[in-house]
Amino acid sequence: MFESIALAAPDPILGLTDAFRADARPEKINLTIGVYRDAEGQTPILECVKAAERLLLESEKTKGYLGIEGLPEFLRLASDLALGDLVPASRVAAVQTPGGTGALKVAGDFLAANLRGSRVWTSTPTWPNHTSVFETAGVATESYPYLSADRKSLDLSGMLETLERDGRIGDVVCLHACCHNPTGIDPTRQQWAEIAELLASRGMLPLIDFAYHGFGEGLLEDRVGIQEISKQHQEFMVCSSYSKNFGLYSERVGALLSVCSTDQAATHVSSRLKQSVRSNYSNPPRHGGAIVATILGSSELRSQWEQELAAMRGRIHEMRTRFVEGMASTNCGVDYSFLLDQRGMFSFSGLNAMQVDWLRSERGIYIVGSGRINVAGITPSNLSILTAAIAEATS
Ligand code: PMP
Repeated sequence: MFESIALAAPDPILGLTDAFRADARPEKINLTIGVYRDAEGQTPILECVKAAERLLLESEKTKGYLGIEGLPEFLRLASDLALGDLVPASRVAAVQTPGGTGALKVAGDFLAANLRGSRVWTSTPTWPNHTSVFETAGVATESYPYLSADRKSLDLSGMLETLERDGRIGDVVCLHACCHNPTGIDPTRQQWAEIAELLASRGMLPLIDFAYHGFGEGLLEDRVGIQEISKQHQEFMVCSSYSKNFGLYSERVGALLSVCSTDQAATHVSSRLKQSVRSNYSNPPRHGGAIVATILGSSELRSQWEQELAAMRGRIHEMRTRFVEGMASTNCGVDYSFLLDQRGMFSFSGLNAMQVDWLRSERGIYIVGSGRINVAGITPSNLSILTAAIAEATS
């Protein structure tokens, strides 16, 4: 039976990581996968995480299963981090999930089973896995424009016009709360208000992917979209990930928060989310959620985390600035200052597929085909090699 099965295409981003590993050139640079790296090019374990793990090692008494929804303390703190006091906790149906991807998948299953016929709208471009996750769950996807023709700013009117013209009541619109992946371009507060208004007037449900909380401007500032949505929507969903902001990539920790219009609806939705969890992975892994709950629940560890998060955010911002300055000093003739308006780990560099190919084959510099670069992969020691190579590729 297996012999007739054709080989699947490799994941476009993880496939490049394999090629990078196999590349023997010492000066190779990996700007592909969205993982934070420090000035030495390492993905460190945060100090606050190590401290929480030491506490857990001493205090944990069991490895017994968690409830289907996960650790209650984690869910309370995760809800508070993403939503603050924007909505009462009793109106939030929450489940702990294996990463942000797990949250999106549980949301997709919930939509497929309970809101039949709803389609999920994703931005063009978006994180490629969005479409796969929703379609695997059995939800049809549609796309709305996001990036303007000059590839440097948000095409708000294109986005709103498409959703207004082609969106249906009951459709779901996937939005990136901050640090849009892959463009790094986020709506302003005013633009968020316009998006919220259009979706409310068309009876569409916002589904907010919150994978980079704290990587944009700050923990409170990055909630601007959720804040504006909550002013005009009684119901919306948030998929939080703690992979980036806590550096807990491989622990797989995330949360799905479904904001409902009544306490009773929240109880019903919660029961449905648990059905999806049960048939997917039964109950979530404990360790990552316990780490996040320990940190957020301790004023000391929380302030240490906020400092470490600010340092990661600051380093990315500094590298973005130095990259723009570095490119200017090559006199390549291309003005990269638009990158300074972008936020988070990613930027759309404007490099085309041919230039990306040349950089990989000739210089061992790995960038995804769309020209998206992981700014966190830039370090003080690889910066000048990178800017010189890009200047050569674009000249
Ligand atoms: N959404 C977006 C926009 C992402 O970029 C990512 C991670 N690359 C995820 C969700 C998934 O996050 P996690 O690794 O926590 O599953």
